[in-house]
Amino acid sequence: MPARDYSEDKSKIMDFLSGYFAHDTTGGKTLKYGLQLTKLAHREQVMLTVDLDDIADMFEDLSEAILQNARRYTILFSDVIQEMLPNYKIREVAAKDILDVYIQHRLKMDSMVHTEGEYRDPRNQYPPELLRRFEIYFKNKSAAEQLSVREVKAEHIGKLITVRGIVTRCTEVKPMLVVSTYTCDQCGAETFKPINSLSFMPLINCESETCRLEKSGGRLYLQTRGSKFIKFQEIKIQELVSIFFS
Ligand SMILES: [Zn+2]
Repeated sequence: MPARDYSEDKSKIMDFLSGYFAHDTTGGKTLKYGLQLTKLAHREQVMLTVDLDDIADMFEDLSEAILQNARRYTILFSDVIQEMLPNYKIREVAAKDILDVYIQHRLKMDSMVHTEGEYRDPRNQYPPELLRRFEIYFKNKSAAEQLSVREVKAEHIGKLITVRGIVTRCTEVKPMLVVSTYTCDQCGAETFKPINSLSFMPLINCESETCRLEKSGGRLYLQTRGSKFIKFQEIKIQELVSIFFS
């Protein structure tokens, strides 16, 4: 399969999200995703579910590419939406939680400190995962094949599939750390570390310029208020079987 041109995909994603129309019950047309982008921009919605049937309506090839590499396209969609959101923001947004307050405060401080000299995007030094306050999910095509648990193989890793089974156990919903933020007890610098796996190893030593040059051995302390958590739940799925007792 030829490699995808991701910059071309990005403009397709933008066209799709801003221009996709759905028919409502009265026969009128609504901008299905455009309306949701407005809500995301104002922190009135967190989750955006993208229906692959809708994408296939506009870009069949893009919908196929997402099926093959859902993980990559989740990031691509997130990047595109993050770029689009300022255009959908029509009023000031009140902070919804403590991380909003933290981010707003930091961006404001940055813009005050760095007004002189060359233009510099204040968000550059923060990991995009920290500033992103929405989550992207894909809904598989309605005609997608339903796999049984035993048919799920290593070749499906990273792809979007539909599995049919019965949930036999689930954990309670827990917070999962996705970006950890630390402050140094010596130089006061902040360190941000995105976490991309299920295991978490806290950072201990400060790697800031000041601490490294002065060898001051600054220690990092995790700052929960500036860290980002998402909801996390683990479920166990078992094959659907019919059992008859006689
Ligand atoms: Zn330090």
